[in-house]
Amino acid sequence: MKPRPAHTVLIAPMGNFEADLIDHIRREISRIFGFAVETQSFLSGLTFAFDPERNQYHSTAILERLDNEAPGHVAKILAVTEVDLFIPILTYVYGEAQLGGRACIISTHRLREGLSPINTESKFLERLTKEAVHELGHTFKLRHCTDHACIMHYCRSITDVDHKSDQLCRYCRILLDDEIKRMDKR
Ligand SMILES: [Zn+2]
Ligand SMILES: [Zn+2]
Repeated sequence: MKPRPAHTVLIAPMGNFEADLIDHIRREISRIFGFAVETQSFLSGLTFAFDPERNQYHSTAILERLDNEAPGHVAKILAVTEVDLFIPILTYVYGEAQLGGRACIISTHRLREGLSPINTESKFLERLTKEAVHELGHTFKLRHCTDHACIMHYCRSITDVDHKSDQLCRYCRILLDDEIKRMDKR
């Protein structure tokens, strides 16, 4: 029998993030997915994904590299970066994930947009953790949800991110639980 991957998510900070920020993401991942969370930095340089014409980083290329290089025992990998990410059909993305795969990434680059000095940090962390859960949700095969309050709702703008809740809707919750059960049977 093949050993099944443990219920572990690896957070891979790429850059110098405050411990508090990573801790926030860690808590939200445990709350929503019920998985253990480890933190380990790897992939020191991202130059392989840099597009000089756009002055941005191609997130799909980073995801492939993450999937190849992450330790075998982790079920999912979430990278956190400060660089501006893109996929060719869009101007920018807040993050990207391998649907039903292992790797996802989020960027802090555009998440401070429009914040007032009073609520900057808490609001920024709220946005960041929503995006983290959203992208991880995709690795568990969750697709975009039509429910505007659901964390799996697709956000075109930062206003949409602020508008959605930090919860999965009932439907997505069931899909996630089913997928986790399936992972256990494999
Ligand atoms: Zn999405
Ligand atoms: Zn939903």
